[in-house]
Amino acid sequence: MLTDLDNTLIAWNNPDGTQQLHDWLQEMKQAGITVMVVSNNNHDRISRALARLDLPFVARALKPFPVGINRAVRQLGLSKHAVVMVGDQLLTDIAAGNAANVRTVLVQPLVETDAWNTRINRFF
Ligand SMILES: [Mg+2]
Repeated sequence: MLTDLDNTLIAWNNPDGTQQLHDWLQEMKQAGITVMVVSNNNHDRISRALARLDLPFVARALKPFPVGINRAVRQLGLSKHAVVMVGDQLLTDIAAGNAANVRTVLVQPLVETDAWNTRINRFF
């Protein structure tokens, strides 16, 4: 399972993630499903954000382009049929998933307060 980071796994006002998130990640681990973060953020920002979650990630994914998702799929060594991309934004996460030819799941953003550029994307 590939997933966006900001406002999909964690919210800016709770960078450690909720108990619910930690429980779910544990369940995924037990089920043998790898959860990999595909984010447009840079390496440092993501590794800081994921310090307590211990998840593999692809940084500077260039969503809505398929580059980062393709890189993640290659790293996992899986067929695209076995991969799903989860995210809270149509114009980046879902567009990138579609461009990469993987299934996508659009989720509600964790919090409604966004950075200004996210607010513009969400409007469209
Ligand atoms: Mg997001």
